[in-house]
This record gives sequence, structure tokens and C-alpha cells, in this order.
Amino acid sequence: MMAPTAPVILLALLGAVAAFALFISAYAFAQRRVRCAREFSVFILSVAIYALGYAWELTNATLPGIFAALRLEYLGVAWVPVTWVLFARRFARDRHESPLLILALSVIPVLTIALVFTSPGHSLFYMHPRVRTDGPFAVFAFDQGPFYWLWAIYLQVCIAWGSVIMIREALEPNLIRRNQAIMVALAGLIPWLAFIGHLLDLWPYGLDSGPFSGGIAGFFFAWAIFRLGFLDLVPKARDQALEALHDGFLVLDRKGLLLDANPAARDFLGLGELCPGAPLTLAPPLAFALKGLLETGEGTAEAVVPLARPLPVANLDLGGGTCDDKGAGATCERHLSLQATTVLDDRGRPAGTSIVIRDVTELSALLARLRDLASTDVLTGLMNRRSFFELAQRDIEVARRTGRRFVVGIADIDHFKLVNDRYGHAVGDQALRTAAGRFLSCLRSTDLVCRYGGEEFAFLFPECELEAGRRTAERLREALASSPVRTDQGEIALSASFGLCASLAQPGEDLDSLLKRADEALYQAKDRGRNQVCVSS
Ligand code: GH3
Ligand code: MG
Ligand code: MG
Repeated sequence: MMAPTAPVILLALLGAVAAFALFISAYAFAQRRVRCAREFSVFILSVAIYALGYAWELTNATLPGIFAALRLEYLGVAWVPVTWVLFARRFARDRHESPLLILALSVIPVLTIALVFTSPGHSLFYMHPRVRTDGPFAVFAFDQGPFYWLWAIYLQVCIAWGSVIMIREALEPNLIRRNQAIMVALAGLIPWLAFIGHLLDLWPYGLDSGPFSGGIAGFFFAWAIFRLGFLDLVPKARDQALEALHDGFLVLDRKGLLLDANPAARDFLGLGELCPGAPLTLAPPLAFALKGLLETGEGTAEAVVPLARPLPVANLDLGGGTCDDKGAGATCERHLSLQATTVLDDRGRPAGTSIVIRDVTELSALLARLRDLASTDVLTGLMNRRSFFELAQRDIEVARRTGRRFVVGIADIDHFKLVNDRYGHAVGDQALRTAAGRFLSCLRSTDLVCRYGGEEFAFLFPECELEAGRRTAERLREALASSPVRTDQGEIALSASFGLCASLAQPGEDLDSLLKRADEALYQAKDRGRNQVCVSS
């Protein structure tokens, strides 16, 4: 007499597991943008097919029927270990898996399926297959063939591998998705507990616990992924933050085609609507900066972009600017700083470049202003003493190397105390500014002049013989003395005395000693009656 098949309640339970697993597999696939949902979908689909096949197996009391069912069952169960590992790895790393690893992990499942499909034609997998009828219903029984052992070991190793990954994640103290990891790790233990139950013979009649434990674990996995999946907010938050960011952000592929640009980047680059995949056409300053960055894929570049309309710059008087219709505190140039980072694909190969564009107009203007303030004399607009020393040292160095001569001079306004005493300090200032302007207008662009102190000025005439220097100084003297200076208090006659000295008169002379000699010559000029040029002997 044929033994009865499994009770309907057991079949219904397995059917329910299969239906539920199929449902969450479809749901996970629909939600495949969620982290590791795709891997989970395939894993739980394998469990569903496994449960379905097992339910079918239990409805059979004959070997041919059981083998037909086993084929369906193994189409599912053979993929459970590899999909569990891939799911766990994706959960932990959020990176696509290399096809090579997937291929390697699939070798044993494919062989297993092949052997089950060709059973009972051989004894590699099942030895002495039979139907057990000593229990309340018929179950399949067999002795383990050599390949069955290999499959069983592979199954346990993969399940252990995935569990270790999940447990490690769950123990990571700084992980934001730790709760998720803890739940997945705990659920991953369910098949193990079922397996221990199997070893302790807690499951009656050699029933397979796999579909049940897999289904229950799958439920908790789904819960962890979709209900605790608060991390899925992160990409959305990033998108929204990028859209609202004042800095520009753009992504280009390896050919330099534009893939993404946030509104700030489109504004900086003067782009209209975003057409992903379109070539990026830019005006020269930006085009050059971008070209350099794309070639290296890393680094920073600067670009100054002219603006059609002046742009207000908060709290900043920029002084003399570049476009006419702007007021103080506005600029017609935008200074952009671009920073490039290579975008790597899942396998770490360069796939494109992301660029962050920062508007540094205000910072550049402030720096320029600071540089100005640090190098300019506020009253006369000439360079200050510090800046003169810097540039003069450089000129002297060049002269030393080239063997060219140069001339250093100092001028001091004659009887300037009287000007101050008679007209007041403010008028004295006005006179000083005019004197500086007249000196400047007589000099070549390579000559240096600075406000050396009070009403004294220092000069350096590069590539200049002493005689030519004297003529230049005479011109300067003449420029001041030839016509009175116009001030608020009327016209004032001004003159200055000059002391000059030529370079290389004594070997190894430095700027200080040259200026000292020029100063001595200046005293001589004062002594001889002022308004004249004297040369150091
Ligand atoms: P000398 O012909 O001998 O040079 O006579 P001097 O009166 O010019 O004498 P000296 O060079 O010693 O005096 C410089 C004066 O210049 C003293 C100071 O009141 C005036 N002075 C220095 N710096 C400034 C300034 O920034 N503004 C004004 N208005 N006066 C200045
Ligand atoms: Mg003086
Ligand atoms: Mg003086």
C-alpha cells in the first residue's frame, strides 16, 4: 500500500512561505534602487522556488514524482548560498560585485543542478534513493553521495561567510545602519538554529527545515532593508543639498561630456537646461581651466570670468575696478576656483571627473586689497619702503648676474617743515601727493620709486650708468621745481634735493650701504644750497 502524502497543513504552510517569498522578491525588485534590494530579491526568489519545490516533493509518494520535484527544488536551493553571500557583501560594501567572483561562486550550484537533473542515473549525489514510509507520511530518503558532501560543505561555508560579514557589520560601532545590520545578522542565525535542530533530530521524519527557516529569515531581512532602511534618505538628502548648494558641482565622463551639473554650476558656467551627455562648450578662461583639470583628473585651477552685469560684493569696497558702470562694492569679474576629483567605477577604474566650483570673488578681492595695502603707501599711492626693498633686492640680484650697472637715489623735499608750518599738515599732504605724482610721471616703467619716509623718496634706476642716472634725477628735480604745486591754500613752490650713487663702486655692496651713500650725497646737496643733485664719490 502506498504511504499517505504530507498533511495539507504542512503543504499550505510551505505554499504560504513560497507565496510570501515571491511577493517580497517582487517588491524588492521593484525597489531595486534601495541598497542591496536587487541582491535580496534574487536571494528570496531562490528561497521561494526552494519552498515551492519542497511542497511539491511532499505531495509525492513515488520516486519518479519526487525526482521531478527535486529538480524544481534545486533550481531554487542551489542559488541560496551564493545569493546570501552576494547580498551580505553588497550590504557591507555598497559596491557592485565583480563578475568573476559571481562566476566562481556559481560553479558548484550549476554542477549541483546538473547532478540533480541527471539523478537517479548516477550515485554521485544521491545514493540508494528511496521513499521512507515508516512515518505518518512518505518522505524522500537517501545516502549521501560524494558530491552531496561537497554541496553540503559549500552550503555551510557560504552561509557562514555571509553571516560573518553581517555580524562584523553589526559590531561596527560607528555604522549609521547598525540597527539594520544587527537585525540582518540575527535573522541570518535562524537557518543555523534550524540546522542545529536538524542535527539534534528535533525535526520529525527527516523533514527539511530549510524552506521554513529561509522564509522566516527572509521576512526579517525584508523588514531590515525596507523598514529600517533609513539610509535610503541619504542619497535623497545629498541630491537636495547639491541642488541647493551655492558651490557648483558637475560631473563629466571620460570624454568630457557633461553628465550632471547643479544649478550653481550651471549659473557659473552660463549653461541653460541640463542635457546629460552633451558636450560642454565654454568660453576661453573656463575652457582652459577645465581642459587642464580633465587631462589630469585631479587638482585645482582658477578662472576669472567676465560678467555682463556688475555683481555686488558684500561689505567690500574694491577700489578701482574693471568695468565702468559699477559702483563701489561691485565687481564685473567672477573669480572661480575649480577642484577636480577622479570618479572611479565599481572596480576602481577612472570613469570620469567630478568638479566642485567655488565662487572666490570676494576672497580674491580681499586678498588683492590686502596685498595692495601691504605694499602701497597710503598717502602717495607709491610703493612703500618694504615693497621697494623687495623689488630693489631682486633688481640688484639681476644686475649682479648680468653685470649691468644701476643707480640708487634718495630725494628729500626742501624746507618742508615750513610748508607744514605755514599751510598746515593737510596741505603738506597734498603737496607730497603732487610731488610723488610728478616723480612718477618722469620715470620708466622699470624704475622703482617709493616713499622712503616723511617727505623722502628712494629710487632705483636699473640698467643705468651714473651719468644717465644723474640726468634722470635732474629731470625729477626739474619736474618739481619748475612749477609751483597747486593746493587748497593756493600755489606753493617746492623743490627737492637728490643724492645719488652708482652700483658696483665697491664690490659686494648691499642695498643698505648704497642707500647710505646716496643719503650722504643728499646731505651734500642740502649743504650746497638745496634744489640740486649730488653724486656720491
Ligand atoms: P630740509 O630742507 O633740510 O629737508 O628741511 P625740512 O624742513 O624738509 O626738514 P626735514 O626733512 O628734517 O623735515 C621733514 C618734515 O616733513 C618734518 C615733518 O613735519 C614733515 N613731514 C614728514 N612726513 C610728513 C607727512 O606725511 N605729511 C606732512 N604734511 N608732513 C610731513
Ligand atoms: Mg627729511
Ligand atoms: Mg626735507
